[in-house]
Amino acid sequence: MAPRRLLSRLRALMAGGTAKLSDIVALVAAESVAEVCSVYALRAGEILELRATEGLNAQAVGRTRLRVGEGIVGLVAATGQMLNLADAQNHPAFAYRPELGEEKFASMLAVPVRRAGRTTGVLTVQNRAPRHYSDDETDVLETVALFVADMLAADGNDTREGFTGSLPRQFDAALLSPGIVFGSVHLPATMLAPKRLLADDTAAELARLHKALRDMRQGLDSLIETQLPAGAAPRDILEATRQVAADDGWLRRVTEVIRGGLSAEAAVHRVAQDFRARMRTMADPYLRERLADLEDLAGRLISALTGASAVPAAVAGMILLVRRLGPAQLLEWHARGIGGVVIEEGSAGGHAAILARALGLPGLGGARGAIDAANTGDEAVLDADEGTLILRPDPSVRQAYERALEARAVRSAAWQTLRDAPCLTRDGTPFTLMMNAGLTLELDQLATTGAQGIGLFRTEIAMMARGSVPDAAEQAAIYGRVLDVAGDKPVYFRTLDLGSDKLLPDSPLSEEENPAMGWRSLRVGLDRPAILRRQLRALLLAAAGRKLSVMFPMVATLSEYRQARGLLYAEAARMRPAPEKLQVGTMLEVPALMWMLPELMSEVDFVSIGSNDLMQFVFAADRGTSSLAERYDFLSVPMLRLVYSIIQAAEAAAVPLSVCGEAASRPLDAAVLMAIGIRTLSMSASSLLGVKEALSALDLVAFRSFLETLRRTAATYTSLRDPIGAWARDHGLNV
Ligand code: PEP
Ligand code: MG
Repeated sequence: MAPRRLLSRLRALMAGGTAKLSDIVALVAAESVAEVCSVYALRAGEILELRATEGLNAQAVGRTRLRVGEGIVGLVAATGQMLNLADAQNHPAFAYRPELGEEKFASMLAVPVRRAGRTTGVLTVQNRAPRHYSDDETDVLETVALFVADMLAADGNDTREGFTGSLPRQFDAALLSPGIVFGSVHLPATMLAPKRLLADDTAAELARLHKALRDMRQGLDSLIETQLPAGAAPRDILEATRQVAADDGWLRRVTEVIRGGLSAEAAVHRVAQDFRARMRTMADPYLRERLADLEDLAGRLISALTGASAVPAAVAGMILLVRRLGPAQLLEWHARGIGGVVIEEGSAGGHAAILARALGLPGLGGARGAIDAANTGDEAVLDADEGTLILRPDPSVRQAYERALEARAVRSAAWQTLRDAPCLTRDGTPFTLMMNAGLTLELDQLATTGAQGIGLFRTEIAMMARGSVPDAAEQAAIYGRVLDVAGDKPVYFRTLDLGSDKLLPDSPLSEEENPAMGWRSLRVGLDRPAILRRQLRALLLAAAGRKLSVMFPMVATLSEYRQARGLLYAEAARMRPAPEKLQVGTMLEVPALMWMLPELMSEVDFVSIGSNDLMQFVFAADRGTSSLAERYDFLSVPMLRLVYSIIQAAEAAAVPLSVCGEAASRPLDAAVLMAIGIRTLSMSASSLLGVKEALSALDLVAFRSFLETLRRTAATYTSLRDPIGAWARDHGLNV
């Protein structure tokens, strides 16, 4: 093909504004070696329809249809990957369509047509002679596909919904960050193809690219400097984005594409699309996260090139709908005041989700199909408590949510008055409420919730957010900041609890059949003690002579606890200044330890029940499997008996005991824990005042006698939640 000539004629054709698909296929067939050029468009129901052809039977246009996955064309649409075949008819996927008359054409090059990250069609060229198309030829065809994408969309042949686009739609989604938002939807413009696709002056485009790169790097630097305090974990995430910017693999590719005749913005767009398509099929969570960083970067570069802001000003309160989102982008959108976020390919362990939780921004993941069904400006309800996104809600649904939100607003205003109130049940029993945290970003919630300390600081969260376990000095800076902000309030640092679903980017995917019960957490720490020792040293350094409490996760035997404690004491013996007081304890989350309680209690300074893991191991029910989520209940006889026996063992040895799993965050469960003797609960900051409200209204004496009766009459129930909930509501508790 003669790429430059073809592209400049294509530009002239498009400039007229009246070009049709048939003109484009005719031009490609005339200006390249191809004897055939055809366009297939994706129709509703995953059908690809022949929309234009030069060289095949014209009668087949509008008639030949293939399912996605069927034939060469269907395979390209299904995988999003081009196929370059010298002998197409003998390819296993080839599907014979007699009406096309393509028997005489041996070779075929088929490229996906993409728009906003979705495949919307397939563009093909064919030749009689068996031949392999060159890199230049595939490059040109991919460029033509950009124009075809625009034309398919303009033709109304886009896969977006037609008349159903005004009807309400509901999508199930995964919880990324809790909360409910009601607002209009925003789909960012950077998901759309740039307007200016071709450019004659390659040198000028390369110069534009380099200037944009410089501007973007400066923008990132100032974002890092101005938005984030030193030592904050997201700072590291932004730096990861900056490093991706410096990676020259993809920059080289962008340069090549510009040399092929594309404008700088079209080249960035195209290379990002290629990466997206290639990486979409990868299961590796690390690579998927890197892709989010790359998309972040592509969006920034395109904005720097086109002058369009990646984040428009007027988005306050809107619900952002994106396929992927890098952490840096999330921070920017948050700064502009978005009310919530839906990340179609987001997962709860992803960087953006960790940040959303730290920022208190409601978020959903999944909601497949929502982006295609939504238009900017549509009203929507994002209900991260129930895991649903409702587009264009019915007036009655909308009103119900509006009422619920008003009630919430009244409640949270009332909660503020609770913040400084003493923690006492209605009948005067004192209790302690602490918060769980994992990012320094969350620390200001100590003051806003009135939490009495940090009952669980999950150190691995900060490491996951930054992507690695840094050296002792850097870790000490993070932990030191936590202690500075906490002041006199206690902080319980848990050592790294990595593994299972909490993976660092560079850790290989586990090949264990059962990673939650595999070589994870403290087990790794004891077998490879260098990292654990480094962390213990960092904690001691951070304490700098202050009090320090260290807690070990996933302890299954007394000997594991002793070994871990031995490492801590050995580091402490070398540290100057030594902590004023060094306390060491363990999470209670592995059942085996429950039969070693008396011995354990004589050797710990405190213990904390990790109800999330304890539940999953007691019921043999994976905590991440949503189909099991409702099957077993914390409010059940076995769990309550178990917790009760822990309380007795702790009381007998006068060891402080808390609960720091999710059960502590639920007002009803918290009330039951109080009734059986727990006095310290540690939970997510957003739940704290709600729990305080419920416990403050609780008449513990009356509740305990109700529970005694229930235990006798309902001992065989799988869950005690319904009768307990009914009692609580009858007695004015907001549960
Ligand atoms: C738990 O298991 O209950 C717990 C608090 O730890 P994590 O949720 O971090 O596993
Ligand atoms: Mg746990």
